Formats: sequence, structure tokens, C-alpha cells
Amino acid sequence: MRLKVLGAYGSEGPGQRPSAFLVDDRVLVDAGTVGGVLSAPEQIAIEHAVLSHAHLDHTVGLAFLVDTLAMIAPERCVTACSIGPVIDALRVHAFNDVLWPNFTAIPSRSEPVLRFRALPEDAEARVGDLWVTPILVDHAVAAAGFIVHDGETGFVYSGDTGPTVRLWQAAREMRGLKALVVETAFPNRLDALARASGHLTPAMLGREMAKMPPDVPIWVFHVKPQLYEETAEELAQIDPARIHILEQGKTYSL
Ligand SMILES: [Zn+2]
Ligand SMILES: [Zn+2]
Repeated sequence: MRLKVLGAYGSEGPGQRPSAFLVDDRVLVDAGTVGGVLSAPEQIAIEHAVLSHAHLDHTVGLAFLVDTLAMIAPERCVTACSIGPVIDALRVHAFNDVLWPNFTAIPSRSEPVLRFRALPEDAEARVGDLWVTPILVDHAVAAAGFIVHDGETGFVYSGDTGPTVRLWQAAREMRGLKALVVETAFPNRLDALARASGHLTPAMLGREMAKMPPDVPIWVFHVKPQLYEETAEELAQIDPARIHILEQGKTYSL
């Protein structure tokens, strides 16, 4: 399994893009940025977008991806997959013909460039060539983390979350787990903001590690670009052998 980091950050800065990952060229895991990185042929190859929650830094790339499809490959379709409340939010608040066109009716309702698919919580679903299990996490809005597996190996993706339990339980029961892809948004001095908004600081990540399966590499994403250096220094003090900040543009093999 190959995991390409399209965007590694929890917001936008010069050259720093919101969170998005591409698995084996076909499946997006979050879509904070897509067209800013991938060529049109690479975008057209995408078949599914697994979305942790509706926040813009995880979904705005989907808006432009389907716009690309509608213009140059209207016979193609990307299916956006998530838990029901996230799909509802995207329908009502984003692809609603107000904020952005309803691409589930473009070019036609029978063969659109965008489809939505609600995935049941805690159940494995087939998404392209992968298996995806959504697990509810603890964020400011309805949000899921995911177990992503290709039948042999896989990773756990936290999406945006504060301290949580069920995702790490599921991770401990998983076979072939190669990495925990975990958010950390703010430096330790913004602990109150992290708690209010449902995010982790490095110190909180350190405490979450007690609940995670041991010895599995922790790949951090979603650091706020405005506070990157400060947060990265604090992350480096926890467990440098195990914690690695994901590098944008790089492809990781699992
Ligand atoms: Zn986010
Ligand atoms: Zn969020």
C-alpha cells in the first residue's frame, strides 16, 4: 500500500496545504487539497474520497476535484464516503447550489461526477480495492477516524480528534497495522484551544500513546502551519524513535 501525502497541515500557509492523502492512486483519505498537487490525469484516476468530517480543511479539494471532472471527464465519478452525519453536512451545507454546485446532478442525476455513500460506523466496508472501517472520534463536529486495510497491511487514520478511546481500541485489535496516522494541531500552550476545538497538542498525544497499540510508528499530520516550529519541537521531545511528522509530497510504503 502506498500513502502519498498531498497535504500535511491543519490549515494553509505558503506551500503548506490542508490535510489530504492518496492511497494507491485511487482513494483519497480526506481532501483538503487535491488539484493543487495532482495533474488532471491523476485527479481523474481518483475513484473514492473517504472523508473524516466536513470541515473545509478536509473537504475543499473535493469541491474542485468534481469541478475538474465535470469539465474534462464528465463520464468519470468520485464517490465521497463517510459516516451519515458527515454526508448530510456536505449535502446540506456544501454541495447545495449555494456554496457550491450540486455535483450529484452534474452532468445528470443518473450519471453524476459526484456520488455520496454513507458508511456504517464500526463496520468494515469495501471502498475500491481497500477495506475501510469508520470509528467515531471526538472533535467539534461529527467526525470519524478510519481503519484502512488492503487485506494484508493497513493503517489507522485519526482524522481530527481530541483525546479518544474507541479508535485506539480498534487499532489494538487490528492485524497488519503498519502506522498510526494521528493529528496534532496546536502547541502545548494552546491546550485550552485544543480542548475546546477537539484537537491534540504534543502533550495530549503523549498521553494518548498509553491507549495506542505499542511499538507501532506514529505519523503526525495536521500541525497548524502558523505554529509549526513550536509544535514540531515539542513533538520531537516525546518519543523521537516512534513519532515522525509526515512530509508533504512524500509517498510512504506500508
Ligand atoms: Zn482539520
Ligand atoms: Zn476539523
